[in-house]
Amino acid sequence: MAESMLGLKRSHRCTEVTAASIGQKVTVMGWVQKSRNKGGIIFTDLRDRSGILQIIFEESDCGAEAFEKATKLRSEFVIAVVGRVEARLGETNQNLVTGAIEVRAESLRILSESETPPFPIEENSRTKEELRLKYRYLDLRRPDIQRNLILRSKIAILTRQFLAEEGFLEIETPTLIKSTPEGARDYLVPSRVHPGSFYALPQSPQLFKQLLMCSGYDRYFQLARCYRDEDLRADRQPEFTQIDMELSFVDVDDVLDVNERLIHKLFQELLGVDVPLPIPRMTWQEAMDRFGSDKPDLRFGMELVNVSDVVKDVDFIVFRSALENGGTVRGINAEGEGGRPRKKIDALVEYAKGYGAKGLAWLAIHEDGEIKSSFAKFMTPEQTDALVKAMDGKPGDLLLFAADQNKVVWDVLGALRLEIARQRGLLKKDDFRFLWVTEFPLLEYSEEQGRYVAMHHPFTMPMDEDWHLIDSDPGAVRAKAYDIVLNGTELGGGSVRIHQSDIQSKMFEVLGFTPEKAQEQFGFLLEAFRYGVPPHAGLAYGLDRVAMLMAGCDSIREVIAFPKVKDASCLMTEAPTPVDQKQLEELGIRVIEE
Ligand code: ASP
Repeated sequence: MAESMLGLKRSHRCTEVTAASIGQKVTVMGWVQKSRNKGGIIFTDLRDRSGILQIIFEESDCGAEAFEKATKLRSEFVIAVVGRVEARLGETNQNLVTGAIEVRAESLRILSESETPPFPIEENSRTKEELRLKYRYLDLRRPDIQRNLILRSKIAILTRQFLAEEGFLEIETPTLIKSTPEGARDYLVPSRVHPGSFYALPQSPQLFKQLLMCSGYDRYFQLARCYRDEDLRADRQPEFTQIDMELSFVDVDDVLDVNERLIHKLFQELLGVDVPLPIPRMTWQEAMDRFGSDKPDLRFGMELVNVSDVVKDVDFIVFRSALENGGTVRGINAEGEGGRPRKKIDALVEYAKGYGAKGLAWLAIHEDGEIKSSFAKFMTPEQTDALVKAMDGKPGDLLLFAADQNKVVWDVLGALRLEIARQRGLLKKDDFRFLWVTEFPLLEYSEEQGRYVAMHHPFTMPMDEDWHLIDSDPGAVRAKAYDIVLNGTELGGGSVRIHQSDIQSKMFEVLGFTPEKAQEQFGFLLEAFRYGVPPHAGLAYGLDRVAMLMAGCDSIREVIAFPKVKDASCLMTEAPTPVDQKQLEELGIRVIEE
């Protein structure tokens, strides 16, 4: 039995019916959250995306036929009710916006019935994520996830408004593009018309937005879908959305300024949070030295201390060999963790090994001042004192040390710092600590490829004062690149771009491109730059991450309507799937059976 809504027009969403509507006749439509028959009276909770409204059916108001129909209501039936708004007879429900009112039904239509859903449609579902994603269209009915998507929509709309007011134009760039494999792996799309040739899906609109600057559009933005075929780590999606922008005739400060004001507006208007401006800045070097991370979480301290000098004469082979091999010894002070049982210290050591540490040296200062340590026996009392002092160790503290090459030491202590903060509950979701990380290295050495690769991308401008080092010490050249970091998550990043062809050619050379190869891959860009290119710079945010942190969620899957899972498949549609032989033939593709 599915009735039509002929002649009915919805007058209110559920929570638009308020105490001010008492006495009015309303027409509401939505899903039955639950319906309880208490003898001569039926209480039905009606739900739509705005919330829940209580409906009351009594035969004296709605007539025998409608009452009989109401006895059949089950969860997730879609209904339309015409009725009059009243103050609630029973107790006010403090949990509902509409808790002080109810609608006394005068008529009822069942617009469609529902089978029993595989899980209840309710807040804070404990349903397994796999099941939620298989029935995502039902999962998306749940109020918490609806709130997330509504917030995401508001972020997108407000961003558009703000950027438009700042003189940005919204311009779409293509999603079937030339494959330029640098960075992640491309998703490829076979061409039917050009057998054997492929398009790539964009990893970002990078080259097109730079071309738009060449074309004089001055300020561009786009909410751009991007695709990266990476081995999926916990919280990555093969496709994701960027708030992407590019500006002409600007330097670093101009980009940061407009983005700080965008962030301020989003947090102010959507969360009522006043982000203090200017957002603090920290160079990459300082971030690594103090936090062991290029995306420091500033919600707590526990900063790294370089104790290489303090321990340089200590007769402990682990410290000694790290220092002799050009590494460092650094520590963190986990304040108040000195009483941590041995088993739990060992667990930290194991955790550190997961980040590449060969071991972890520890020193616990008990409340009574007694010192227990994995390496104190190699030190004189004076050396121990000096080390404790350097770490500002007090009774009750636990000092943890890593000794290795800088990169390992940073990774290990950066990760431990976060893990301990997590264990101690120091990571408050409503404490928003923004940070710009600037002056990233231009290049990083890839052991795997045996050459330097671009840390950001090959179009990033080196810092003027470092450029002379490009041949003698390429690793020391810093870039005009910046990341916006929030609570230990990189929300976005960008750079000033190279607009001088001599610098660009040199960059390609350092990155191992022959002039022919550079021409083959990026010829159109290099050519465009020959016809008058303005200095330009830009930035892109991961919209999914922005929405996730603003919504207080732990996963971007909670702010994406139809996300994929770790192996890049969609549990609802079962994509990717094999295709018809005929489709493959048209594309000239033969699949090799493994
Ligand atoms: N296109 C860059 C990225 O996707 C961001 C930028 O430099 O604007 O990371």
